[in-house]
Amino acid sequence: MPTFMHQAFQRNECHRQDPLRRFRLHLICTFPFDLLQVIAAMNPDKPLACIGQNMLFNRHSKGPAMKLTILGSGTSTGVPMVGCHCPVCASGDRRDKRTRASIIIENSGKYILVDTSTDLRKQVIREHIPHIDAVLFTHSHADHIHGIDDLRGFHFIHKRIIPCYGSEESMKVIARNFSYIFKGMEAAGYAPLMEQNIISGPMDLFGCRVEPIPLMHGHMPTTGYRFDDVAYLTDCSSIPDTSRAKLAGLRLLILDALRYTPHPNHYNIEGALKVVEDLRPEHAILTHLTHEVSYSDGAKLPSGVEFAYDACLLLSNPEKLTCNEGFIRLILRNPWERKEFDA
Ligand SMILES: [Zn+2]
Ligand SMILES: [Zn+2]
Ligand SMILES: [Zn+2]
Repeated sequence: MPTFMHQAFQRNECHRQDPLRRFRLHLICTFPFDLLQVIAAMNPDKPLACIGQNMLFNRHSKGPAMKLTILGSGTSTGVPMVGCHCPVCASGDRRDKRTRASIIIENSGKYILVDTSTDLRKQVIREHIPHIDAVLFTHSHADHIHGIDDLRGFHFIHKRIIPCYGSEESMKVIARNFSYIFKGMEAAGYAPLMEQNIISGPMDLFGCRVEPIPLMHGHMPTTGYRFDDVAYLTDCSSIPDTSRAKLAGLRLLILDALRYTPHPNHYNIEGALKVVEDLRPEHAILTHLTHEVSYSDGAKLPSGVEFAYDACLLLSNPEKLTCNEGFIRLILRNPWERKEFDA
């Protein structure tokens, strides 16, 4: 094995589980586009998707693939939690540093943000998000909406009113708590930044089919979202049967799992694994995690299930949806080697 490959292999701490796969992914992330093309040529039977020099390349795709980035994988307190010195809060593993739960989807150059988390500013700077084209709200709890004011920066630059979508209950609370975002404040010179819309059924957003999935978060209704064959279900403790019917045939399920001990308003890990067993997605990622959960515990999860971590990037090739190839998971740049991660 050439030295540079050996070094890349050594640097990848996950290589023990699946040496060849992890090694390939690491190569994809580390080396320039020319080399990626060589790797593609050496693996003609593999659906190789990769990022190199900010360029998205997929051998089977004529157009760009859908990119989903986990902006935040943490519960409402974030991890580390203020004042706590437990082993997970003190962990040196970047994947144990969790900002508040959120994802962003990039499809055909459009960015669809799910929730405006308390850490929104940090997340969009870290991921170099150039603009936001729509926001979907899951519910009105503070950790999912209190970053809404950070969208002002985009408005200063692009001067566009961002459409947002949510259930009637969620939009009522968000519009009441942040009325200046929707109505502006003429006396202070604030223009409206967002326009509210109620989502009650499937709709098309920039060529992506978005379907709201009603969930229960204790006694509070929340909204999960299905994007083609990917579902994001954060903050839930039960899924009504009518919603389960909308979750068949998923390639990827991102699901609230909070922690090991039970919680009245969230699935714990045991409960989330039962949902995974029931829905049988090809791949599942557990998110909205507390400091009870160390990323390294993921080695004990069933095959095809893993813990979310901030900056995890997932790609889907829309042309290969019917093919049993699963998602290809990549890290855009190793987050624990990135200085801006601490911004
Ligand atoms: Zn939450
Ligand atoms: Zn802690
Ligand atoms: Zn919540």
